[in-house]
Amino acid sequence: MAHALPLGPGAPVLAFDIGGTDIKGALIDEAGQLLGLRRVPTIVSEDATADAVLGQLQQLATSLTRDFDQVTPLAVGLIAPGIIDDSRGLVHRAVNLNWTEVPFRQLASSALGLPTTFCHDARAAGAAEVALGAARGFSDVIVIVIGTGLSCSILLGGRLHSAGGFAGELGHSIVDPRGLPCACGARGCLETVASAGAIARRYEELTDTPPHGARGVLEFAEAGDPIAQQIWGEALDALALTIAQLAAVLAPDAIVIGGGLAQAGPALFDPLQKRVDALLTFHRHPLLKPALLGENAGLLGAALQARARLKENA
Ligand SMILES: [Zn+2]
Repeated sequence: MAHALPLGPGAPVLAFDIGGTDIKGALIDEAGQLLGLRRVPTIVSEDATADAVLGQLQQLATSLTRDFDQVTPLAVGLIAPGIIDDSRGLVHRAVNLNWTEVPFRQLASSALGLPTTFCHDARAAGAAEVALGAARGFSDVIVIVIGTGLSCSILLGGRLHSAGGFAGELGHSIVDPRGLPCACGARGCLETVASAGAIARRYEELTDTPPHGARGVLEFAEAGDPIAQQIWGEALDALALTIAQLAAVLAPDAIVIGGGLAQAGPALFDPLQKRVDALLTFHRHPLLKPALLGENAGLLGAALQARARLKENA
C-alpha cells in the first residue's frame, strides 16, 4: 500500500524508526511515496548489544526490497530514542533498547551495505516538521513531542541544536523539586506530570480506574470528573511553566506540539496558550501550533536525512 506524503521527489531510500516497543520500516520511492510500511516488535537483548536489532533491520530491508523490486534504495535513514550523537552516529545511552555507547550508524551501514544516517527520533520528527510541516518558515522554533515520554527538538537561527545528543530532554526539566520520582532518578521532572503516559497513570493510581489513555482522562475532565480535572490542570500548568521558561531563555517564534496528546486539539491548545500568555510579560509570546505530520513524522525525518546524505556525497 502506498501512502501519499509531502516528501516530494528525490532518491529512493529505506527509513526505519527503532522504538523500545517496535520497529517501523518503509521504502520511499523516487516520487516520495511511502511503500510497504510495516512494524515488527523490537527484540531488546539482555547484553546491551545491537545485534538483534541489526538482524531485524536486515530482514525488513530484504522483505521491502523483495516486495517492491522496481525500487532500489540508495541509502538508509535510521532513528531511535535515547542520548544520541547524530553527527557521530553514536548512541550514548538508550534505556528502552538497553544500549550503551553503541556506534550504531557504522554497524547498520556495514550490515545493510548502504550509506546510512542515524539520528534521535524526536530531532528527526522536528526536522520533518521544519521542512514539511507546522514549523516550516520559522527559524527559531521548538517542536515538542508529547507521548509516553516527552522530548523536543530545538531550531535556533535555522539550525537544529543537539549539543552532542544531550539537548532536547524537555521531559526531564524539573518543574517541582519535591515532586514525583522520575525514571531518570530525579524528582518532579515535567514528564512525571505532563506526558500522556503520566496523565493516564496518575488517574489510574488515584481512582483504580484505567482510563483510555490521556485522551480518556481529558474526556472524564470535560464530563466533570474532579480528579481528571485536577490531573489535566496540573499537566497544563507544568507544560505552561516549561514553555514560559523556554520563551524567556530561547524566545522562539513558535512552539509546535505533536504526539498523541496534541490530537486533543483546542482542548489542549486553548487553555495552554492562555496559561502561557498569563505567565509572560515583556517576553516574545510563542505561537502554539499543532504538529502536522502525524505519527510518521520521525520516519519522514529519517528519509529526509538519508536523501540529504546522498546529496552531500553526490
Ligand atoms: Zn526525569
